[in-house]
Amino acid sequence: MNHASSNSLVIAEAAKCIGCKACELACFAVHNRDNGVGTAVGTVTMPVLPRLYVIRTDSFTMPVQCRQCENAPCAGACPVQAIRQQDGVIAIDAEACIGCKACALACPFGAISLYKAYSGGAELPQPLLQERRDSKLQRKTRITAYKCDLCRNTEIPGGSAAGGDAGGRGASAAAAQDRNPYPACVAVCPEKALQLVEVGTGSSRSLNREGVIF
Ligand code: SF4
Ligand code: SF4
Repeated sequence: MNHASSNSLVIAEAAKCIGCKACELACFAVHNRDNGVGTAVGTVTMPVLPRLYVIRTDSFTMPVQCRQCENAPCAGACPVQAIRQQDGVIAIDAEACIGCKACALACPFGAISLYKAYSGGAELPQPLLQERRDSKLQRKTRITAYKCDLCRNTEIPGGSAAGGDAGGRGASAAAAQDRNPYPACVAVCPEKALQLVEVGTGSSRSLNREGVIF
């Protein structure tokens, strides 16, 4: 399956994962074009902030990311309704997020992280809160929640939407067409350890005792 639909998620096969972290880098790159990631080596001014994480145990490595839960406990925990299902994906509205961390605590998979917010490669300040640093009061950097959105809101590099097409219906049609058809992690994995699957239409799969899909 190549295109995310209304009941899809990315699954990982631990038996294939070699722990190379190409998925983490691809995820970071597609979600941070607005922050200058992917333009030129040595110009990136922010840390690598992926939305999936390769975990390592004594016996295996495997990426972990959002399962797009049907009941989305993260959304239920959010006090400002910043998490919604949008086009079949559980998505965080970064503008609405107040950085309270309730979603990260509620997620049974540890799939939500809270990091500094960036815009144009620079840290975004909190509008009101200040912090004392070097004996001076300075604007505090805003913290926001990040999670996998199946790359639904990212664009294909060099697409017409990214190139600033004309406005109106033509532009929005072009933007929709230029969205990534499948998640960057799935596309980049050299071992094909990640798959986009649609629950209910794919082949049956089983879990081992640790809950890892094989
Ligand atoms: S950190 Fe943001 S998205 Fe998460 S529960 Fe708090 S306000 Fe909602
Ligand atoms: S972030 Fe966690 S709780 Fe929310 S939908 Fe994804 S896996 Fe479920």
